[in-house]
This record gives sequence, C-alpha cells and structure tokens, in this order.
Amino acid sequence: MQKQRSTRELRELDAAHHLHPFTDTTSLNQQGARVITKGEGIYLWDSEGNKIIDGMAGLWCVNIGYGRKDLSEVAKRQMDDLAYYNTFFKTTHPAVVELSHLLAEVAPAGFSHVFYTNSGSESVDTMIRMVRRYWEVKGQKQKKTLIGRWNGYHGSTIGGASLGGMAYMHQDGGDLPIPGIEHVQQPWWYGLGGDMTPEEFGLAAAKWLEDKILEIGPDKVAAFVGEPIQGAGGVIIPPSTYWPEVERICHKYDVLLVADEVICGFGRTGEWFGHQCFGFHPDIFTTAKGLSSGYLPIGAVFVGDKVAAMLAEGGDFNHGFTYSGHPVAAAVACANVRALRDEGIIERVKHETGPYMQQRWREVFSRFEHVGDVRGVGLIQAFTLVKNKATRELFPNTGEIGLICRDIFFRHDLIMRACGDHMVSAPPLVISKQEIDDMLALAAQCMEEFE
Ligand code: PLP
Repeated sequence: MQKQRSTRELRELDAAHHLHPFTDTTSLNQQGARVITKGEGIYLWDSEGNKIIDGMAGLWCVNIGYGRKDLSEVAKRQMDDLAYYNTFFKTTHPAVVELSHLLAEVAPAGFSHVFYTNSGSESVDTMIRMVRRYWEVKGQKQKKTLIGRWNGYHGSTIGGASLGGMAYMHQDGGDLPIPGIEHVQQPWWYGLGGDMTPEEFGLAAAKWLEDKILEIGPDKVAAFVGEPIQGAGGVIIPPSTYWPEVERICHKYDVLLVADEVICGFGRTGEWFGHQCFGFHPDIFTTAKGLSSGYLPIGAVFVGDKVAAMLAEGGDFNHGFTYSGHPVAAAVACANVRALRDEGIIERVKHETGPYMQQRWREVFSRFEHVGDVRGVGLIQAFTLVKNKATRELFPNTGEIGLICRDIFFRHDLIMRACGDHMVSAPPLVISKQEIDDMLALAAQCMEEFE
C-alpha cells in the first residue's frame, strides 16, 4: 500500500522528477505545483482541502463532469474481461464495435467510419496522412499541401505542431513546420477586422484562403484544416459568413475540408460537433477530449464516406497505434457518449445552460474597463483584456497581462485560462445555472481585484 504523502513531499518529489508539459520548470519549482486530488461535477479539490471551480473542464475535456462512478465501473468490467487487445491484422473486439456503431449514430449523415487514436495530436497526424493517402489513391499524388491557420492549435506532435499556427511551437525544438504545410491568417474580426463589419471580414478572411490556394496552385493543395472555433488560440469565433465561404472555396478548387473538433466536438457548442453550429460540411473531422470526457485517453478521426471509399480502394493504409481502439478506453467512451446523449446533456447546453451562460457572461464582464470583445457559444466563452476598449487597442507584450489575471483567478480557486490576453472558459457541460451564477460571482470579484 502506497503511504499517504504530505503536500510538501508531493511537491518536492514532483519538482525533483517530473517535467511538466508547456511549463517553465524553473518558475514552477520556485512555487511548487498545486496538487489536485479529487473531482466531483464541476469541482476539484486540492491536497490542502481547497474546493476549486474548474471553469476549464480540465483541458477543455471533462464534458460529463468529474466523479462519474458509472464510467469507472465500466472501465473495471472491461479490464476484467479484456484489458487489451489490438485492432490490427483483422481482429476486433465488442467494445470498439459498440463505440463505432454509436459514433456513426451521433455523427452527421455521411460519416459511417471512424479511425481510432489516443489523443487529439494523434488524430491530427492521422488525418494528415489520411488526406495525403486519399489523393495518392485518387491518382493525384502531387496534392500534398495542407493549409492551417496562424494561431490555430492542432497538438504537439511534429505534424500537429506544424499544422498549428503557434509560432513559439514552430521555434521550440523545431524547424517546423514540416514541408507541405502552409498557413493563412485567422478569422479574428476584433483584432484584424479594422473598419469592416464582421460579415465583410468573414468573407475577406475566407478570401485569404483562396489567395493561398492560388499561390500554391490548386493541383498541389490537399486540404484546408481549421477548428470551428479556435480554442487554445483564444476562443476566436469566426463571423457567420466565414465557414460557408471557406466551404465554397474548397469545393471550387477540389480541396478537402477538415474540421478539428478536438475541443468543439461532443457538445461544447451545444451541437454534437462544432461544424454543425456554423453550418458547414467537412470531409473529415478529428476528435479526442470529450469523446471520453478525459476519463481515459482516446481520439477518433471521423472519415466521410467519400474519403473512406477511396481509402478502401487503396488497400492497406499503413498507419495505426498499438492502442488504436483500446478496449477499456472504447468501453468508457461508449458509456460517456451514451450519457451525453441519453441524459440530454448536449440538448441542455443548446437550449438552457449555454444561452444562460452567454447572457450572464456578457452582463458580468462587459462593464470592466479593460475588457473588450466578450463572446461565446454554448459553453465555450472568452473576453479579451484590452488597453483601450473604445479603440480596440491591445496591450503590448501579449500574454503578460493575461497571466496576471489568470493567477488572480487561480488564487481564488477558480480555474480559467489565459490564451495570450484572452481569458477563456469551457466548464464541464453538466454545470447548472446556479453553478454558473456562483462561478461568475467569483470571477467578477477576481476582476475587481485585477482592475
Ligand atoms: N486539436 C485541438 C483543436 C486541440 O485543442 C488540441 C488540444 O488542446 C489538440 C488538437 C491536441 O490534443 P492532445 O493534447 O490530446 O494531443
């Protein structure tokens, strides 16, 4: 039996042996990491007994909320029956069959197939190879280039980090992007729209894609990839004109359209998938996070019938992971997706808690002097810290002020995230109206302190 360690001991051991992702180790070790020990609904507890509101659902993933015993029981049963087998070489197992059937039911028409991964990054890397394979089998091998967007986030693997548009990720350990990846500017009206209306700007931003396709040559462009709402980039919600125009352009130049639904998927926007919220029709979409609500690592690439048929025509697709369709992760994902559907959780986000959050979010934050562009859809929302609200002037040294604000929230036991100077939130989808009120009351108190 493992002995119970004190918080101090845990912090010291953590500092001695654990390299954290996306973390400045020196500054972390000066402070010591906060030790999280328990979760229930939208709440976390740390090792010192503090109750924390998790306004980020972990890393935008715990859609169903913490502490669901039914999911842990499913995991145990599946572990007892079959803890592992793979889905390579003409084998399968009941858990992955059930999950695939269920996902085909909740997916929009035309998506009868999924390919399993263990994370969002692996879903993105899988998609990159799949897109290129599609054009190879079709006899258009030269169509290889994928176009992503600046400030987009598609993961930390070499492929995902390349396709993403985070310049600091291209630099760190880098020489990224890899060949065959290009970027266009993000559809961020507040920061880039100038005098244009949002609708005019949406069309102008889509035109950047058309210009890029023409610059590369349509016969060389394989796909355009974007998050329906840019998540880690700061919850950038494109104007309503953007996605339909992007879809038109992709059709015009015979370019595959890919939605990265790793954050938006499984109910975040109030629809099952974010592209349904914006009314466009991708050929492929990538998922992870909300698929299992983070209870176990699993991702899935939803493959449109046109692409699936072409892959089948090509014979072997030499790609996959030891844990693709892992039985325990698949069983848990299946129970999670059923609960999201059968308990009406996504419906509630669409009709009740989502609209309530958006109304209250605007009421609470719009009044602050340094808050601009208060925005959100479903249960994903943000505001931008600005130097001058009237002129939309941003603070210099992007990110500095955001971190100060985030730390105030954290000290008051409310987790929100600073993406640059955008303060973002994406709580578990099970949050109640009362919990929204509690969260926003605490957030308002933090903002008073900040200003
Ligand atoms: N794609 C998007 C849109 C994401 O937001 C993320 C992670 O936040 C990823 C891909 C990468 O997912 P993971 O961290 O599971 O590899």
